[in-house]
Amino acid sequence: MPILVPEPHDEVCFREDGKRLDGRAVDELRPFSCEVGVIKNAQGSALVRHGKNLIYAAIYGPREVHPRHLARPDRGILRVYYRMATFSVHERKSPAPNRRENEISKVIREALEPVLFLEAYPDSQIEVYIEVIAADGGTRCASTTAASLALADAGIPMKSMVVGVAAGKAQGKVLLDLGDKEDKVGQADIPCVVVMKDKSISLLQFDGEMTLEEMKLGFEYVLKGAEIIYQKQLEALREKYNKISRQAEIEDAELSKETPKEEKTASESTDTAVSPESSDIFKSDVEAESAENTRSAEINETPEASETPSTEGSETKTSQEDVSSVGKEAKEENTLSEESAPSEVPPQAGEDNPTGDDK
Ligand code: ADP
Repeated sequence: MPILVPEPHDEVCFREDGKRLDGRAVDELRPFSCEVGVIKNAQGSALVRHGKNLIYAAIYGPREVHPRHLARPDRGILRVYYRMATFSVHERKSPAPNRRENEISKVIREALEPVLFLEAYPDSQIEVYIEVIAADGGTRCASTTAASLALADAGIPMKSMVVGVAAGKAQGKVLLDLGDKEDKVGQADIPCVVVMKDKSISLLQFDGEMTLEEMKLGFEYVLKGAEIIYQKQLEALREKYNKISRQAEIEDAELSKETPKEEKTASESTDTAVSPESSDIFKSDVEAESAENTRSAEINETPEASETPSTEGSETKTSQEDVSSVGKEAKEENTLSEESAPSEVPPQAGEDNPTGDDK
């Protein structure tokens, strides 16, 4: 049975060497990685690992709006559902959506709307589902980054990618990308969402106290960090298309391997058909067969041949009988083919005589 140890809540956020508790410099991001296309059923999806945060985002739509009365005839609507799994934090979180989750869903929607062309989707909705599997501070920023990546993966036209990253202050120092403890015991937290095309800010929240100078420094850090995350987003998208093109190349190579084989087989069979030797063989086979038929027909036509008692024993007789039966079959076949011509069909016994010759 796991023992739940309470989280430490001392104020210390720096080591003796001046670095942060996880060894980072003040302007350094936590380890970041992302990938796209992780949920096959979704239109687009992304997985973001930002520090110990593990966040999935999935896009569904554009599609019909339910309930219908929410639909707008002049533009599409964006709906964002940010949820934290019950096991994502130290103490079990209630599965019911709480005020904080509703607030974060709203701010993420407002951070994404400016980069979307919602006017292109009247009467439709685009849904963004965000699931936080593990939370470690700064989840709204990492969720926005994931949502932006998932939208791009879904092929939804966007003016720009957006990146979420926070600046803050702890123990009198301005920091980039606060971890969970820095977030909780720090003096200030500024979650930002940066529109990468023009470096404008589509989300800015502020919690705590900071001087103007500290805020300026914080924004410098944010822009620097956002650029690093943006490059990773692009890399993840490129990787997806590289994977597709590599797969297509492999399939092409397999196809081209198969095609010459088929062509070879076809040419081989054509060779067989036109080869003089093989045609001779075929010819000689045909000749031998027709000679055999003629011989058996002759045997069949000669009454003595069938009636002549065998002088060579029963085996020869049997073979002669076989031959004569073959001849009979051949005759029957001829008769059948003659029957196919109606004018030459002789009247059968018991049939009405159409010409009335009997009379
Ligand atoms: P953000 O995750 O965007 O920083 P908050 O500042 O509200 O949002 O939360 C900070 C951190 O507090 C979260 O990342 C998470 O690790 C933790 N947290 C949030 N909600 C809960 C909760 N209900 N129970 C325990 N920890 C929580």
